[in-house]
Amino acid sequence: MPEFRALLRGYHRFRGERYEAERRRWASLASGQAPPVMIIGCCDSRVDPATIFDTEPGQAFILRNVANLVPPFEQGGGLHGVSAALEFAVTKLEVRHIVVMGHGGCGGVTAALQGGDHGVPGPSFIDSWIALLDPAVERVRATAAPDPQRALELEGVRTSLANLRSFPFVREREEAGQLKLHGCYFAIADGRLWELDEGSGAFQQLAEGAAA
Ligand SMILES: [Zn+2]
Repeated sequence: MPEFRALLRGYHRFRGERYEAERRRWASLASGQAPPVMIIGCCDSRVDPATIFDTEPGQAFILRNVANLVPPFEQGGGLHGVSAALEFAVTKLEVRHIVVMGHGGCGGVTAALQGGDHGVPGPSFIDSWIALLDPAVERVRATAAPDPQRALELEGVRTSLANLRSFPFVREREEAGQLKLHGCYFAIADGRLWELDEGSGAFQQLAEGAAA
């Protein structure tokens, strides 16, 4: 199992290098976490938020799922993994920012455009999950976007932001100025990050080398 051995070699590098260098930080983290930011990204192996934002341990509470989606607020039972993580981050950890990050070449978005994951016989967990994008698919089709894949990747970020605001504990804190929502998009091919300007509804590419 060379793939798993490669993971263990990585662990030993971490122990010998990064852990040693950051030993004091890890010691303080052992008593608890207080991350100021929650990041919601895709499971895709190429778009690790900790890598892209070069975060330190304890800096970002990260949730990843197929196509970086947030479901709308629902009352009642059910296995709401995303909503539970969101509730914990907002009401217990009191994060001050939530970042939704979409990305180029998203397989979940491709499946949504194709009307489902046709590779799975019988009921598909993917199909019911990416149905969250159905209204966004309709909007993208209505605009006849020249690149529907990218248009839906961007529209998916806007959808997750809208769904975040359907949670009362998110909306209340945003209105009170205690919480800020952000939409981002990572274009894998060129390693560039785009940020959503919710005023204009457009994504703007971050200038190279800029640090704000
Ligand atoms: Zn993806």
